[in-house]
Amino acid sequence: MLDCAIIGGGPAGLAAGLYATRGGLKNVTLFEMGMPGGQITQSSEIENYPGFFDHEKTGMDFMDTWQKQCFHFGLKHEMQKVERVSKTGEHFTVTLENGEGVESKTVIVCTGSTPKKAGIKGEDTYFGKGVSTCATCDGFFYKDKPVTVLGGGDTALEEALYLSNICSDVYVVHRRDTFRAAPSTVERVERKENIHLITDTVIEEVLGDAMGVTGVKLKNKKGEITQMDNPGLFVFVGHNVNNAVLKDEEGHFICEMSEHGQVIVDLSMRTSVPGLFAAGDIRIEAPKQVVSAAGDGSVAALQVISYIQEQA
Ligand code: FAD
Ligand code: NAP
Repeated sequence: MLDCAIIGGGPAGLAAGLYATRGGLKNVTLFEMGMPGGQITQSSEIENYPGFFDHEKTGMDFMDTWQKQCFHFGLKHEMQKVERVSKTGEHFTVTLENGEGVESKTVIVCTGSTPKKAGIKGEDTYFGKGVSTCATCDGFFYKDKPVTVLGGGDTALEEALYLSNICSDVYVVHRRDTFRAAPSTVERVERKENIHLITDTVIEEVLGDAMGVTGVKLKNKKGEITQMDNPGLFVFVGHNVNNAVLKDEEGHFICEMSEHGQVIVDLSMRTSVPGLFAAGDIRIEAPKQVVSAAGDGSVAALQVISYIQEQA
């Protein structure tokens, strides 16, 4: 029987693992289907984590020491996808993709979110063949070539900045004429000579051939259709909440959720089910920042320790 099962190894899960193990819990396992680190490992930079100010380091570099610190204090990592969490009586069962059921006194769900698709014609056909959601992973394939970026949020503009150092030109296509991204990021983008902002415009179709993407067909608000012959398309149009582990076999959520599919928690990261906690991007009103996800994880772990003491 585990003291605590942590599902998801991003900033929230790793911070929870650190606080739970350092706080004295002996049997704490992190179930993370990939390498721990979370979404931020896809980022080319992180400049707003307090005390960390190094433009040379990527999100991957930044997260590397988090897991080492956790393992030092006794956190165990199982590289497994979790199918579902259920509660029978006092305890939880964490059902893994391989069918195994792991019993635990408490669970902290930190499964975060994943990139959304834009729903454009040709996007699925050419996904992985010129369409990407990760500039750090795929940007280098377009060295000295022009690329298209879709989206107007922080991710789109930050990744456009990253791509502008590799690619000849970066064309950012955004459906409105104002950006959702932080004003300081918009200013940095505007100062870059090889980033071109194409606003009030949507991508109608991803064009390609047997080799992959050859370009995109654009339509602006006036209805004018144009074409850009760029071999890479980076789609940054937001994220879906990874809440599937909280659905029972009939597809019903086991705890209270918001209309947007986020877990409803209180200030202690408690869900509506005693012993079940949620932290990071998966919770309601998440600021979707590494620092806040880590803060959530620490709060949840401290609550887990109190909960186990109260139950004993
Ligand atoms: P995530 O980081 O999403 O981690 C969730 C983890 O759960 C993942 O590793 C996933 O593999 C795992 N998981 C999911 N489902 C399962 C399952 N069923 N079983 C097992 N494991 C599972 N924030 C900043 O503060 N500063 C930035 O500069 C910044 N830049 C960003 C750049 C990009 C490109 C992106 C995408 C995000 C950026 N963010 C930034 C946001 C930040 O990364 C997130 O807010 C943060 O990572 C959320 O942490 P989390 O632990 O809640 O979830
Ligand atoms: P986001 O803020 O939701 O922005 C998504 C962008 O894509 C919006 O500009 C949206 O347009 C556009 N869009 C959505 N669906 C589209 C579609 N089908 N076709 C075309 N365009 C579409 O997502 P994000 O940029 O990934 O950021 C997610 C969260 O992480 C945010 O809270 C963000 O602040 C945070 N984050 C923070 C940092 C940082 O602090 N440095 C870095 C990255 C991410 P509209 O604007 O018209 O809706």
